[in-house]
Amino acid sequence: MEAQQLSEHVFSLPFRPPFFIGYLAPNVYLVRDGDEGALVDSGFSDDDSVNQRLAWLRGANVRIRYILLTHHHFDHASGAHRLAEALGAQVVLHAQEQPFLEAWREEVPQDMDIPAGQEEVRQRIQRFRYDAAQAARDPLWVQDETELKIGRLVLHICYTPGHTMGSICIWMPQEGILFTGDTALGLGTVAVSPPPYGDMGLYLRSLERLKNLGPQILLPGHGPPVKDAIRKIQELIDHRREREEQILGLLAQGKDTVTSLVQAIYPELDGRILPMAHRQVSAHLHKLMQEGQVLLIEAEEPRYVLA
Ligand SMILES: [Zn+2]
Ligand SMILES: [Zn+2]
Repeated sequence: MEAQQLSEHVFSLPFRPPFFIGYLAPNVYLVRDGDEGALVDSGFSDDDSVNQRLAWLRGANVRIRYILLTHHHFDHASGAHRLAEALGAQVVLHAQEQPFLEAWREEVPQDMDIPAGQEEVRQRIQRFRYDAAQAARDPLWVQDETELKIGRLVLHICYTPGHTMGSICIWMPQEGILFTGDTALGLGTVAVSPPPYGDMGLYLRSLERLKNLGPQILLPGHGPPVKDAIRKIQELIDHRREREEQILGLLAQGKDTVTSLVQAIYPELDGRILPMAHRQVSAHLHKLMQEGQVLLIEAEEPRYVLA
């Protein structure tokens, strides 16, 4: 593994495990000042991912105090327990993530869906879910505006629910850097599930809040650094608003089920990400219902109409 220095105090520790099939493997960042450091997210828990990062960190002569998890999804959290034990570090999580980690045996939506019939993948993912749950055994539970010190650096926890209910971003004003986890990605769409797993209304409020921090650089959970930070956040807000307008338009045309909306919005969708598209549309509908713009008609396949 070759680390990349991204700023005076921040390094990326990239590793793409061989089983990973997406094109943007999860990022793990090191924040350091002098010989003190913290990791932001932990990557996967397979031997390769953990050992490559441990070997580099040991050679870097840095004492890791914290492993901050932006959220509970296993691509970000499953490596935390093993890394924390090996490094003597404290895992940091928002308390709203606890119930989802405790429910690791259940089908809590993740950043990747399990392709039907792929038993080997299913087993590997169950292992990651289990490993991620170990991170919730004895972490430091943080909340909005908690501050953690690394050397002379201050890391500000910013509670940004939406992608998951306990998602946090980490704001480092000294360098204008905002670690966004999966709340703001530079490439690709952020998946937002309907409650209880996520919340589109809260997600949009979280983005507004991040914009108001005035960050210069976003370091996302997947993909490269984003230099034009405020414009990117605005783009994400605009994209969601446009999708919402599209859904209202389709409802007005009588497309009244999640299935028919998904077909109209994503006509050429790869079957593997169909469940994610369903959750995304459901998350928008839930927001519109909460705002009184859409009504739900209970049926075998629920129907949605304009209020
Ligand atoms: Zn992710
Ligand atoms: Zn995620």
